[in-house]
Amino acid sequence: MLIEEYDLELFTPPCEPGAERFSARARLRTDIREVLPYLNAVVRGAIYHPGAPALTWKEDGHTVAVHPYEVLVSEVQDRESAQAALERVIERINRLWERRDEITPSYETRRPPTPMEVFQLLPQTNCRACGEPTCFTFALKLVAAQRKPEDCPPLLESRYAEQLAALRDLLLSAPART
Ligand code: SF4
Repeated sequence: MLIEEYDLELFTPPCEPGAERFSARARLRTDIREVLPYLNAVVRGAIYHPGAPALTWKEDGHTVAVHPYEVLVSEVQDRESAQAALERVIERINRLWERRDEITPSYETRRPPTPMEVFQLLPQTNCRACGEPTCFTFALKLVAAQRKPEDCPPLLESRYAEQLAALRDLLLSAPART
């Protein structure tokens, strides 16, 4: 098992005092940098930062970051969910490590989508059905993984099916490999 022990920390990000979102951090006792290219090969939409080194991806509306001695899950609604999400990620890393001989590691790096690229795939009517004042605000939250494409009701209409598919591809800018 790659990650056997860790110290768990739950916190509200210091840049968002009073925010109703939580993060969970696992401080590891072993260096797990070797798993990063394997995760990069299988995690849909992962972005590899070889210089850091780090791997980040969006999942279920939150952000996951894996570093040599740390796994972080952020933007989760409550402390319990943050802890559960972190434990799921650690389980996934351990399972992946066990079958690494079957996986070709990837050192590919990808660029995350910009808010404007995302905005261009939205209906651009500013109808507010998503609860945001404008489509661009919604695009900013999509990029930050605080909202999902399905939170835009018009986008679920058949006339926007191609845009919705393109948006999903853009937000998860890698082929499904898990
Ligand atoms: S629901 Fe969709 S179309 Fe309406 S404002 Fe939100 S993002 Fe724009």
